[in-house]
Amino acid sequence: MQEIKFIKAQTLKEKPDESTLGFGKYFTDYMFTMDYTEGEGWHSPTICPYGAVAYEPSLMVYHYGQTIFEGLKAYKNTQGKPVMFRPMENLMRLNRSAERVCIPQIDVDFVLYALKKLVALEKDWIPTSDGTSLYIRPFIMATDAALGVHPSHTYRLYIILSPVGRYYKEGLKPVKIYVSDKYVRAFEGGLGAAKTAANYAASLYGAEEAQKKGYTQVLWLDGKHHKYVEEVGTMNIMFKIGDTVVTPALDRGSILPGITRKSAIQVIRDMGYKVEEREITIDEVYEAFDKGLLTDVFGTGTAAVISPVGILTWGDRTIDICNGEITPFTKELYDRITNIQLGIDEDKFSWIEPVEE
Ligand SMILES: *Cc1c(COP(=O)(O)O)cnc(C)c1O
Repeated sequence: MQEIKFIKAQTLKEKPDESTLGFGKYFTDYMFTMDYTEGEGWHSPTICPYGAVAYEPSLMVYHYGQTIFEGLKAYKNTQGKPVMFRPMENLMRLNRSAERVCIPQIDVDFVLYALKKLVALEKDWIPTSDGTSLYIRPFIMATDAALGVHPSHTYRLYIILSPVGRYYKEGLKPVKIYVSDKYVRAFEGGLGAAKTAANYAASLYGAEEAQKKGYTQVLWLDGKHHKYVEEVGTMNIMFKIGDTVVTPALDRGSILPGITRKSAIQVIRDMGYKVEEREITIDEVYEAFDKGLLTDVFGTGTAAVISPVGILTWGDRTIDICNGEITPFTKELYDRITNIQLGIDEDKFSWIEPVEE
């Protein structure tokens, strides 16, 4: 293992009140950085104080968006020990995103080692009240100070940490979702399966328009036919129709392969229900509702874990799925996943990674 250089902070920050955390507003005392130089590979791993960084305005990432990110969480389990949820899955996905936007691969074992060191150092920042956690944001960006569209020759990887509360102000109350048949987030052959900045830039305008109409998020449809359900801006989507949970398949390459999605599929099967990963049209969703078969709609993602959807609006049709209250199935799924994360239930799928030996 490469040695990680440590630069000590002069002063440590005061920790925020856990009841006012919100999402992504506060950052811990330290971050991890590592640099890549062509010919030399990744080098100079460092844990240093979190803070502003000066770059030249010509920095490549500012202009051409060659950057990728991840999002995962650390918790304090019921024994007070810091743990992470499936971190290797995130690092492997970071490498898949890297490949798609011509960023060099990282050594996932080394970065996991560094991540554990960082979280162990910052473990006092892990909040413990209901619905809180330490959100971990690894990202890599192009750092050549030069114009011209081509892959950068230098990169920097950062890992920053943010103590967070619930992602949606609604908490576990169902959110209102607007089905966009006008704007497109990602296209077959595009970047949808990579966690890269461009996808989020593409989603802002439509999401803002939906928010002005009183919706929390947008449900994106496929770019070609505007009929196949894809995902929400930061979550994958699932529909429980009778005893079967249906979620869009990933093979089109325009959907982000969520780790919560993958975990939820395993838990739902374990609960004794069928899961189908396949194409599902928005018409099928509305037909299932009309037949009284659509019992649950929910999003899956690290930030909110499981987020119930209450209202769906598509064109001029609004449907109310659960009368404003989380349904028993969705609640049980949320509880089962979070109970594993918090160490309340047995880690029967081996998803929990201790931060300290
Ligand atoms: C991160 C993300 C998800 C959820 O992925 P998880 O691994 O479950 O956090 C879903 N959709 C998009 C667009 C995302 O960026």
